[in-house]
Amino acid sequence: MEEKIKLVAQKIKESKHLVVFTGAGISTESGIPDYRSQGGIWDKFKPVYFDEFMSSENSRIKYWDQRLDMEKSLSVSKPNTGHKSIAKLHDRGILKALITQNIDGLHEASGIPKEKIIELHGNTRRVRCMSCQKLISWKEAENMIDAGQRAPVCSCGGFFKPDTISFGQAMPVEETQKAAMLSSKSDVFIVVGSTLLVQPAALMPEYAKNAGSFLVIINLSETPYDTACDVLIRGKAGPVLKKIVAL
Ligand code: NAD
Repeated sequence: MEEKIKLVAQKIKESKHLVVFTGAGISTESGIPDYRSQGGIWDKFKPVYFDEFMSSENSRIKYWDQRLDMEKSLSVSKPNTGHKSIAKLHDRGILKALITQNIDGLHEASGIPKEKIIELHGNTRRVRCMSCQKLISWKEAENMIDAGQRAPVCSCGGFFKPDTISFGQAMPVEETQKAAMLSSKSDVFIVVGSTLLVQPAALMPEYAKNAGSFLVIINLSETPYDTACDVLIRGKAGPVLKKIVAL
């Protein structure tokens, strides 16, 4: 493990186009459960698909109930050692881009500027009307729920939904293209805390690898890229990243 950490630290120092890609696993140390691990969100809830959300009041209520459950951990969460270590790479001017599947906003809270972060699956701290596209804050939506709306509705009559990409919902074109372009340009590409199973987000390491990038995976469980990467670290994101940036 120590040799691998040294090699990754060296590659980062030499890098001219470092891209870090994160999934739910980087935020578990902030108390936000991931989806697929034991005790994760899917042990508790079945996901609501986008067409179900749009077509059924019951599904919208189920969706909002799940989102409220997530708020218990989200509202008290703070960036952890893993987020902060990546932010240090930004402070040192090494980090070119941070691509994330996460919707929790913790990378921005760690000090990485918005312009450097590509949120492939949106951000759950803001809420969008599915008809007029108006954006409101989480707090405003929460106030509507407290006032008795179990699935908040916009003044235009449209359904409010956290501004994230649900199963069956189209990916944001601009973010997806930007992430693909940055991945293809990378010389070092580090995956942290993702099963790399969700498409098209999971294609990013492949774009990187095809472009000759040095591919690193830091994850607690298996991914489909484990045999294709240059360094595989089976460890917890926080402590591993802390050691890497300390070298
Ligand atoms: P996932 O739940 O499928 O997988 C998370 C991976 O991280 C697993 O392989 C797990 O072994 C690993 N992991 C867990 N804790 C770790 C740690 N401390 N250190 C290293 N690895 C760790 O997540 P995913 O593949 O990122 O994507 C699923 C989808 O879930 C994403 O699209 C994302 O939008 C959504 N999601 C986001 C959040 C969040 O924003 N925090 C939370 C749950 C789900």
